Amino acid sequence: METLKGIPVSPGVAIGKALVFHGEDIVAPHEEITETDIPKEIARFEDALTKTRAELLKIRKQLSEDIGRDHSDIFNAHLLILEDRALIEDVISRIKEDHINSEYAFSVVIQKYLYAFSQIDDEYLRERISDIKDIGRRLLKNLMGRDTETLTDLKEKVIIIAHDLSPSDTASMDKARVIAFATDIGGPTSHTAIMARSLEIPAVVGLERVSEVVANGIHIIIDGNRGLVIIEPDEETIDRYEAKEKRFAGYIHELEKLRDLEAETQDHHKVELAANIEFPDEIPSVIAHGAKGIGLYRSEYFYLNRDDLPTEEEQFTAYKRVAEEIAPHHVIVRTLDLGGDKFLSSLDVPYEMNPFLGWRAIRFCLARTDIFKTQLRAILRASHYGNIKIMYPMISTLGELEETERILNSVMKDLKKDGIPFNEELEVGAMIEIPSAAIISDILAEKVDFFSIGTNDLIQYTLAVDRVNEKIAYLYEPTHPAILKLIKLVIENAHAAGIWAGTCGEMGSDPALAVLLIGLGVDEISTSPLALPQVKKAIRSVSITQAREIAARALKFKTGKEIKEYADNCLGEIAPDLVEEL
Ligand code: PEP
Ligand code: MG
Repeated sequence: METLKGIPVSPGVAIGKALVFHGEDIVAPHEEITETDIPKEIARFEDALTKTRAELLKIRKQLSEDIGRDHSDIFNAHLLILEDRALIEDVISRIKEDHINSEYAFSVVIQKYLYAFSQIDDEYLRERISDIKDIGRRLLKNLMGRDTETLTDLKEKVIIIAHDLSPSDTASMDKARVIAFATDIGGPTSHTAIMARSLEIPAVVGLERVSEVVANGIHIIIDGNRGLVIIEPDEETIDRYEAKEKRFAGYIHELEKLRDLEAETQDHHKVELAANIEFPDEIPSVIAHGAKGIGLYRSEYFYLNRDDLPTEEEQFTAYKRVAEEIAPHHVIVRTLDLGGDKFLSSLDVPYEMNPFLGWRAIRFCLARTDIFKTQLRAILRASHYGNIKIMYPMISTLGELEETERILNSVMKDLKKDGIPFNEELEVGAMIEIPSAAIISDILAEKVDFFSIGTNDLIQYTLAVDRVNEKIAYLYEPTHPAILKLIKLVIENAHAAGIWAGTCGEMGSDPALAVLLIGLGVDEISTSPLALPQVKKAIRSVSITQAREIAARALKFKTGKEIKEYADNCLGEIAPDLVEEL
């Protein structure tokens, strides 16, 4: 028995047989061809292009039916690679000039592309490498007349183990038979993680070597709550997890009964419980998990995986749809949070040594006011159709808030001039995710209607720990005393100024930490929809007096480890079944 620890990206437990998916690397044969063979080789290549394109369109359609258009749009990037004239012409001229077969010519060209992408040092573009590999594999198989290895026709229920899973692998998975997956690479923001959460199957990523250690057919356990993969578990562990799996399913079912109840403490202190989304398609899941609104709509996902910028009309349609579907509850649209590990292929953003500290989010928007104003116009227009609030990411100075206010006012003025209706009372908030913003939150509070504390980044910047680097993940501590002190300060400053403060990072998805957060005074918790039922259960099990005592005591400990242990123990007393089942 061996246990690997990775990053939990989708909760739940699965026990089953491993299917190690290699994505099958194909070696293209190298053959010399004669002058007369050239037209035939070019025709073969063009046929393979057509066939691959047809396959991708089919997968895109299937995915669109299964989980919605937003996710299937991932394939637009694949299709664009196939239509790239430069790539096609490069292959054809190699066939003609070098007298080589089309498989070999294509593999040389695709390697050239892969090399160029590997030289660019950013997370988002690294994910594009797997798209190019995926296309290369598919096209070569079609050229060589082989069937594409897919996860479509599986004979039994399996847990997929892979170095990485491309979007097309995930999309073509036999959803009834794939019960979980685990990969060597990837982080919580990778497509794989996003897909797993949408499909609601347990998943762990960032395991580094799971695809080397696990052999086909052996038994494994995936613990998507803790980020564990247990290889060849002993009888006792299997029994324990089987019981856990059954109880977890039953317990989740139990928790669903809380769906329509308020997130209020035993002494009737109400907390707003909202969900984070990346795509409008997630709204049914948000509603099913009992959220009272969307506390963070990561609008930048709308800009990813495409070679152009979304138009005002496209954005307006999406924001309007979200606002209408979530009504009567609110949706907080976060303006474009580009950068860090999220890059837009449509923009020529220069390479940076420290992208997390670089030209990103509000800094980028204030420099590219053309892009920013288009988005603000679309959000404002949609605000006429539902309860929309707006919030700005990565605020670090008062000057930035003043500048956003000036731009927003000018967009409002233009809309009025054009006679286009919008909510003139729309609430505007700032994300507090940089220590400087937390420290001057008394000053910032005068400029906005609310704060949303982005704990994911606040932890990263306060502790100087890259949030996507698995090597230093042990230092990434939501309960570090510095974090709790900053959160407390932000909430006190918000309340002193008469505005509300919530959190929208993953910290709020841990029920023990949710209790701590409400004890510190947060008015709202927004987090992944899947975590909402357990967070609601924790809130409903405690009194606000108790939560405040827990928070006050937690602030007296000297280390993050002690605070975490203390918070977990408190939850164990408040909601013992929750601790046991998760
Ligand atoms: C955060 O930083 O906590 C947050 C919610 O935003 P994101 O995870 O998108 O950076
Ligand atoms: Mg953030």
